[in-house]
Amino acid sequence: MHIVVCIKQIIDPEIPISQFMIDPRTKRQVQGNNPLVISPYDANALEVAIQLKEKHGATVTAISIGGSTATTALRSALSLGAHEAILVNEPLLAGSDPRGIAHALAKAIQKVGGYDLVLTGCESGDWADRAVPAFVAEELEIGYVGYVTRIEVKDGQVVARRVVEDGYELIEAKTPLLAAVSSDETNNPRYAKLRDIMTAAKKPIPVWKVADLGLDPEQIGAGYAKVAITDVYVPVKESRCEMIEGNTAEEKAANLAARLRELKLI
Ligand SMILES: Cc1cc2nc3c(=O)[nH]c(=O)nc-3n(C[C@H](O)[C@H](O)[C@H](O)COP(=O)(O)OP(=O)(O)OC[C@H]3O[C@@H](n4cnc5c(N)ncnc54)[C@H](O)[C@@H]3O)c2cc1C
Repeated sequence: MHIVVCIKQIIDPEIPISQFMIDPRTKRQVQGNNPLVISPYDANALEVAIQLKEKHGATVTAISIGGSTATTALRSALSLGAHEAILVNEPLLAGSDPRGIAHALAKAIQKVGGYDLVLTGCESGDWADRAVPAFVAEELEIGYVGYVTRIEVKDGQVVARRVVEDGYELIEAKTPLLAAVSSDETNNPRYAKLRDIMTAAKKPIPVWKVADLGLDPEQIGAGYAKVAITDVYVPVKESRCEMIEGNTAEEKAANLAARLRELKLI
């Protein structure tokens, strides 16, 4: 079994809100000094793949589309157990909408070839369009299951456990299949061992460009986008502080209740 895991590197979504800034010109989040991490659900997807490697001897290939910094995310995937990692680093993909990223990802997965499972996160931790996985499945002409947390292999088929509002569904599917992974207590990302981090640091990571993927430079990036972001901003929250006066605690409480009633809050 060969599993391709799609990994997006993002600015750590756990940073304090005070550190979250948007560049009004590019309409993108400013990295500043904030760390880059593997998008959280992609880390769950990688864990699912590594568990399948441990149980069934699957081969795991990690792919990321991003700048040169995404190599760090891919090295981390290698240290956690991926066999190979590939970076698609192509400036012409700048301005891509999710359909454009999916188009390039699908081409990269086709170039890897021989895959049985493609795993993605169910949504990225930054833009969270939840669109890339379904677009990739459509382009590869393979089945798609969303919100999967566990995958079993049985008689050459996969059984995917999918979370729904009040429980879960078990879905039997033929491979090749794309599963967009969510989190549960069975797919918490593991920590890499120091020895594996050192081995991963030496592993070559091929870098693919548009020409390697057979993509038409006119048909990618902003030119291929069907949607445009017109504005992105951090909402401004206004707050006021009003002191409630009174000579005694009882009087303050009564005044507070009267004020809350006046504001129709009670
Ligand atoms: C009109 C428009 C213009 C944009 N312009 C830019 C731009 O100039 N520069 C820019 O950086 N972003 C840009 N974006 C955002 C960019 O399109 C998204 O980051 C990208 O399409 C992925 O979408 P998402 O993050 O919402 O992924 P989702 O659909 O939420 O992703 C789900 C899963 O797909 C996989 N995945 C998604 N992206 C990648 C990736 N890069 N590599 C590997 N796997 C991946 C991951 O497994 C992820 O968990 C733009 C978006 C729009 C709508």
